[in-house]
This record gives sequence, C-alpha cells and structure tokens, in this order.
Amino acid sequence: MPDRYDLIVIGAGPGGAATAFYAARSGLSTLVLDRQTFPRDKPCGDGLMPHAAEEIRLMGLGDWLDEPRHGRFSGFSMYTDTAAFRQNVPPTLHGPHGYVARREETDEKLAERAKESGAELREGLRATRLLRSSAGAVEGVVAENGEGELRFEAPLVVAADGIGGFAGEGMKVHQDAVARRQYFKNVDGPNKENLQVFITRDMNEDHAGYGWVFYLGDGTANVGAGVSTKALAKTGRNLKDFYDRFLEEPRMKAWLENAEPEGPAKSWSLKMGMWGAKRYGRGIMTVGDAGSMIHPISGEGVGYAIESGRLAASWAHEAHARNDFSASTLSGYEKQLKSQRAKEHVSGHALVNLVPNLHMLEPVFKACETNEDARRTLIAGFTGDEPIYHMLKHPKALAAAAKKIVRDKVG
Ligand SMILES: Cc1cc2nc3c(=O)[nH]c(=O)nc-3n(C[C@H](O)[C@H](O)[C@H](O)COP(=O)(O)OP(=O)(O)OC[C@H]3O[C@@H](n4cnc5c(N)ncnc54)[C@H](O)[C@@H]3O)c2cc1C
Repeated sequence: MPDRYDLIVIGAGPGGAATAFYAARSGLSTLVLDRQTFPRDKPCGDGLMPHAAEEIRLMGLGDWLDEPRHGRFSGFSMYTDTAAFRQNVPPTLHGPHGYVARREETDEKLAERAKESGAELREGLRATRLLRSSAGAVEGVVAENGEGELRFEAPLVVAADGIGGFAGEGMKVHQDAVARRQYFKNVDGPNKENLQVFITRDMNEDHAGYGWVFYLGDGTANVGAGVSTKALAKTGRNLKDFYDRFLEEPRMKAWLENAEPEGPAKSWSLKMGMWGAKRYGRGIMTVGDAGSMIHPISGEGVGYAIESGRLAASWAHEAHARNDFSASTLSGYEKQLKSQRAKEHVSGHALVNLVPNLHMLEPVFKACETNEDARRTLIAGFTGDEPIYHMLKHPKALAAAAKKIVRDKVG
C-alpha cells in the first residue's frame, strides 16, 4: 500500500522547506521529497535581502542568522561603467540589515525546521511524475531512488523543484538567466559591510547582467556574475567567459590580488519575474524558482521562495478545509501572490526585457551619484522593496539622463 499524506512537496530547498514547515504546522500530514541529500550545496550569491531575512526569522531562525560567521550588510556599493555610489539599505519594516549566509547551511537549517514542525523529509528520492485519476484529480506522485519506483498518495502536490523540471503539464517556463559563483578567502576591498554590485560594460552592452562580491563574516567572500540568456544569445559567449572577464576588471583584479579560491566556480540557471509561469492547476501549486519567483533585477529568489511557500501552505490548508482541490480554489494562491509581488517583479521584468541593454541606463546611474532620493529608489528597486517604475518619481534624475542620452546621440 502506498503511503498517504495530505500534501506532498517536491523539493526541499527554501521554497519546499517553507511550504512543508507551514503546512505541517497547520496540521497537514506533509511529505517532502528531495532528489539530493542534505547538507547539499546550491550555487547562489548567498545574499539575503531584509525581507528574506524576515522570512527566515519567521521560521524561527533569527538567532542562527545573527551568528558571526554570516555576513551582515547595511548597504550597497554600486559600481557601473561611469558611476560609483553607496546607499544604505532603504528603510522598510524588515529592518536595516540583510545577511550573507552559505546556502549549504541555510537550506539544511530550513529543511530541519520543516522536520521539527512535523513534516517527513525523504532524501535521495527523485519525483518523476504526477499521478492523476481518470477524472483528472491529483492522486499523488511517483518517485525513484535508483533501485526502483515508489508511489506516494496525496490529493495535493506543491512543486518546489527549482529548475528541476518535475511539474510538467505546461507549468514550467524557460530559464532567462544564468549565474556563476565561487568562494574566495582574503578578498580585499572597501566597505565590507555593503553588498558590492558591479554593473559592468562587458555584461550590459548586449543586454543585462551584473557581478558581485558578497562578504561573509568568516573571512571569505562569495564572488559571482550573472547574465541574461539574451546576453548569451546576442554575444555568442558563454557564462564562464563573462565570469572570467569580470574577475579581470581592474577593480576586481586588485581586490583578488591576495585572494585564494575555495573550491571550483559553480553555475546554475534562473527563472525570473513571475512572467509566463503557471503557478496553480487542479491539485497542484508551484513555489520558488519552479514558479519563476526570482526578482528580475537582483536575481534574488530565496526570500520569494520562502514567501511563496508560506502562502501555498496556507492555501493547501484552505483546500483541505473545503475538501476542494480545484484550480478555482487554488487560484486564490496566485491572486494573493500577485497582489504581494507582481508590481515589483513584472515591472522589473519589463524593464530588463524592454530596454535593449542596461548600458543605456548609465546616465541614470550617473544621476544617482548626486541625487540621494533617486539613489534610494533605485536601490529599493534592487532589493525588491519598491517597483522600479517608482524611478518616475524622480523627474530631475530622469531628465538629466534623457538630456545626456540625446546629447550623446546628437554628438
Ligand atoms: C549563481 C546564483 C546566484 C544567486 N544569488 C542569489 C542571492 O544572492 N540571493 C537570493 O536570494 N537568491 C539568489 N539566487 C536565486 C536562488 O538561488 C533561488 O531563487 C533559490 O534557490 C530558489 O529556491 P527554491 O527552493 O525554489 O529552489 P532550489 O533551491 O533550487 O531547491 C530545489 C530543490 O528541489 C530538488 N529537486 C529538483 N528536482 C527534483 C525532483 N524531481 N524530485 C525531488 N527533488 C527535486 C533539488 O534537489 C533542490 O534541493 C541565485 C541563483 C544563482 C544561480
């Protein structure tokens, strides 16, 4: 007899762990399957914006977050082709700090919290297909562990498999960016209390991308770069090439002069901006990267994976209370998620995809050097705390930028 649950969650990354944590805490018998075994690495910048830190605190990990081996940042240093400026974390209800914590540890902690709240985690099991009745109702999933197939029953499934490709059924969207990161010891540089963001000419002349140095608290730094898949297509270059050239930028070269790499660089794909993804259907919801919940400007997705997991868990609870797993009931999850996040994600997606390349925005970055209000809004657009169209509130900065663009065009 297959095991029977109220909810099966595919994937125990931040999205799946949060879904399972909240679902089990609300009383649902919850099974989480992950094809890997924890602790496991996930290529990431390890940056946790204040809203993401808040989600982690809500899961009972506030003291862990404050442990000194993690980085704790209070601002941003931004370097572009023509501009350089610093800005504190914009004031929000989430507090004045974000964190930098290795995903290997963060994800293990989150998965532990899911287990502590009563969820059952089964590792080394890859979900391969959704089971549906002849009438279309979800009945469970099939998984395999290398030795054979196992069946688990539930009327409801949450796909939290990142870019894993489990959900199928037209729920998946294509990746729209790729990123690569490596840890280094002894990275030099000023203002280590800031996240360091580099909008280089090389990554932005043919669409969009950025490089970063995120300092941890243990003497290491996470150094990475990410570019849109459009940038790859337009240039015919690969991600490694963009990353290697980033490390050769003069400022980076100086900062890395005495640095030692810790392990190899690792790459992964991103699906961003909520765009085009289907996040619910009869008996199924998707959360985190599986639902394209990465912020399209910053590439940040841990906080959104947890938030979407928290909301999906409350809709799983609601569906059980109504004994109704229809798409119409689960559309409540999508509506709630959109009302919380669509403004920021979809406007960021529009900016990145409508502007032919981010290098065009250099005059805006230049104006931000001296216009503090515009700078704060730009950074709030990056942290996901404000939609990027709030830049329209700064006509002076935009007018200066427009003038510069026209002057350059006219010669
Ligand atoms: C290089 C890089 C840098 C990034 N930097 C940041 C950053 O600084 N800050 C930030 O917030 N975000 C960042 N992101 C994005 C962030 O990593 C993701 O948004 C985040 O991992 C999403 O969590 P998730 O739970 O949705 O998916 P994942 O973390 O990918 O977890 C998915 C889980 O599902 C499991 N799985 C997959 N398929 C199956 C299957 N068929 N059966 C069972 N299990 C399965 C996997 O083993 C995995 O454990 C970065 C991404 C990249 C690539």
